[in-house]
Amino acid sequence: MNRNDETKSESRFYGHRLQIGASGGANPDYGKYGWTRNNGAKAHRGVDYVGEVGDDVYSMYDGKVTRLWNSRAYGPNATRISTTLNGKYYNVDYGHLSKSALSINQTVKAGDLVGQMGRLGNLAGTSYPTHVHIAVWRPLPGNVMGFVMPHW
Ligand SMILES: [Zn+2]
Repeated sequence: MNRNDETKSESRFYGHRLQIGASGGANPDYGKYGWTRNNGAKAHRGVDYVGEVGDDVYSMYDGKVTRLWNSRAYGPNATRISTTLNGKYYNVDYGHLSKSALSINQTVKAGDLVGQMGRLGNLAGTSYPTHVHIAVWRPLPGNVMGFVMPHW
């Protein structure tokens, strides 16, 4: 079993937790974890949910805000909520937000507002659909980010 299989099987405990704005929806062309983009030119480690700028984005899980940062990929409102699920520590990163509604160290519940969808980060200025990028991962030995696929 490779590391990817391991993290995927674990993630099945947490299905149906993605919550997004009313106009959003999964884009099957590039929205699945582990799929590559641009004919394999770029790995895609997360799930994209398409919507409109300003759509509300909600937290998938209970947790705590552990990082708010300016990311080249995710934009200036990159938001990380960390949580313990079945005894394991996970990070959930939300990318491309136009605004973050949270403060560092804030406790959040599943369904709480994370922020609003935007077009910031490495898709700014392109025709790429407006979406929130949600990456679920946990730190693994060797400074490896163990990405998991949320089920819904
Ligand atoms: Zn994405």
